[in-house]
Amino acid sequence: MSNSEPDSPVIVTIDGGAATGKSSTGRALSQRFNLLHVDTGAFYRTITLALLEANVQSNHPAAIAEALLHLPISTRVVGRHALMEVRGKVPGDMVRSQRVNENVSLFAAQPEVRTFLYSYQRNQVEVARSHRFPGLVMEGRDIGSVIFPDAQFRFFRPAEEEERLRRRAVQGEQDEIRKRDEMDSRRKTAPLMCPEGAIIINSTRLSLEDVVEQVSQIIETKLPRVES
Ligand code: C5P
Repeated sequence: MSNSEPDSPVIVTIDGGAATGKSSTGRALSQRFNLLHVDTGAFYRTITLALLEANVQSNHPAAIAEALLHLPISTRVVGRHALMEVRGKVPGDMVRSQRVNENVSLFAAQPEVRTFLYSYQRNQVEVARSHRFPGLVMEGRDIGSVIFPDAQFRFFRPAEEEERLRRRAVQGEQDEIRKRDEMDSRRKTAPLMCPEGAIIINSTRLSLEDVVEQVSQIIETKLPRVES
């Protein structure tokens, strides 16, 4: 799908490793430009939790495919955020549990899981449209490369060790961020990478506010700010 027609929704993609500030940036942009905020990491976490609860192992592609066949998912919009529902319910904090942290990259590497989420993620454009948003900001690992390679604005946030250390200190050893990044970068299907032609947000020594301002100046060439 090309989204370059005059009244087509604005699509902003942000890719990058774990704990690189994608979510904070995405949330701030969603507020500034009234965009639907879509955190695809939460989608992978939700699917991982559902598969773990169904006792499906990440190294059994046939069992994953079978379980996903019977997994009804939908989207609930809360404020400016698109949340995934499974059987009509948005999962709680369990998606951030240690068990999910340890397993999410294993399930995310499986083509069955990625294929299952492909059209769901692309369909968020329709969700944004039906809720009268002028577009969406979607963050993840393969958004600018695989999901929306034609998006008007594609950004990439490289990992910075200082920020990682800070995040790791906050989260303790519950989430091995670097290990997840390695697995996400090495997988065969839709690996974590800087999408070709994406704008690299180098945020060394920049505050979140500065980063958001920099990115906003690029986006406002196409879309008015609703909030400064
Ligand atoms: O963004 P977050 O750290 O919550 O993502 C959790 C995991 O989901 C990632 O480590 C990755 O394995 C997977 N993921 C992915 N593709 C995306 C978003 C997340 O593989 N677009």
